[in-house]
Amino acid sequence: MNENDSEKVFILLSDEYEPTFNPEEADLILINTCSVRKKPQHKVYSEVGRYKELKNKKKELILGIMGCVAQQEGEKLIHKLPYVDLVLGTQGFYFIKEALKILKKERKPVVITELKPNFKPPLIVSENYSFPIKKVSAFVTIMQGCDNFCSYCIVPYLRGREISRPPEDILKEIETLVKTGVREVILLGQNVNSYGKKDKNLPDFTELLRMISEIEGLWRIRFTTSHPKDLSDKLIKEIAENPKVCKHLHLPLQAGSNNILKKMNRKYTKEDYLAKVEKLRNLSPEIALTTDIIVGFPGETEEDFEETIKMLENVRYHEIFSFKYSDRPFTLAEKLSDKIPEEVKEKRLKMVHEVQERITREIYQSYVGKEVEVLVEGPSKKSSNFLMGRTTTNVVVNFSSPRLDLKGALVKVLIEEAGKHSLKGRYLETLKS
Ligand code: SAH
Ligand code: SF4
Repeated sequence: MNENDSEKVFILLSDEYEPTFNPEEADLILINTCSVRKKPQHKVYSEVGRYKELKNKKKELILGIMGCVAQQEGEKLIHKLPYVDLVLGTQGFYFIKEALKILKKERKPVVITELKPNFKPPLIVSENYSFPIKKVSAFVTIMQGCDNFCSYCIVPYLRGREISRPPEDILKEIETLVKTGVREVILLGQNVNSYGKKDKNLPDFTELLRMISEIEGLWRIRFTTSHPKDLSDKLIKEIAENPKVCKHLHLPLQAGSNNILKKMNRKYTKEDYLAKVEKLRNLSPEIALTTDIIVGFPGETEEDFEETIKMLENVRYHEIFSFKYSDRPFTLAEKLSDKIPEEVKEKRLKMVHEVQERITREIYQSYVGKEVEVLVEGPSKKSSNFLMGRTTTNVVVNFSSPRLDLKGALVKVLIEEAGKHSLKGRYLETLKS
């Protein structure tokens, strides 16, 4: 989502600025920030510090902070880092142009951190979209904010209430992206399954998927994140039946113990979760599942933790993202006692990694010898003469090819080898270009 917000800022500024990969050359540096755990929040300070030197050398350099840490800290950032010129929160960054005007006129730092519950994000599109290079797969934010208040999570406090964007804006944005060569969109929201639920005039998420899949020239649709509690039978059926919808679902479990899930305020049990997985697999046997796991939530016993491991063995995810629980301001979990010591969290995280590494290896090994459809994203980082793309199940494939100008094509690849986080193969034929 942050990456997508940065792209919006880039488009907003593209009539005045152009991108550079060299900070020494920059007239404006905006650092987009994450606050979901303590670590990324702290990283902001060292990152900003790196640019202080540049500011000393070049007085007119504008230095700004945007995103969740800007939202969280607001004015405080200016006091802590007096050389910062702009602090633009999670809605504030849309006003970057206005902020720059005020800064140039008044010559003092500008802070915009208001969060409006009925905020309408403007439609920001550009047919010259080319940052940093033309993309085959692009993010499209379909909703902002979150109303779920999982007890560990800071997001609802920093990104505000859930707001679904109007379908006309979403369609227009995707149509424009397709004109620039985009073939796949990744629809973004903290909980895409609840798209449109708050407004009777809006379609629901399944209907939105159908509308998007009408767009000619768009071949693939992905989306994230799906909250298990809102994953409907209607959506499960659509995933199976709509050929443009990729056969991959990111379905954050967080924990395997019902006791911890309850304390997390996730509003499902492990049995509810497994029933949904079964339905998904019944209708889409090839579907790949991925998830997020938190270890060491306050009060998590060894037995609770074992339940998480059991769920990994049971569901067999393609990949997982796992985190040590981190105390966040404003949240209910921060106020709980029974915090888990760092070494225990560390040990549990390591165990999760070990179990999952084996499962991923086994699943990736099962691709060897198979022919898969790959949407080519560009040259492979692993080796010149190789291209890189993804399967519908979102697995990265690096493959040798007699032609290297296949970016944006859908090709058939024979998988010959499985790596830790990717597959290796050989080009067979072009299916669509
Ligand atoms: N809306 C998405 C995720 C948003 S945050 C969802 O509901 O899944 C991304 C991930 O960060 C979460 O899924 C969770 O696993 C992790 N996370 C959030 N808050 C955290 C915290 N306080 N400590 C550790 N991990 C956290
Ligand atoms: Fe955070 Fe829960 Fe909302 Fe995801 S659904 S953003 S974890 S509060």
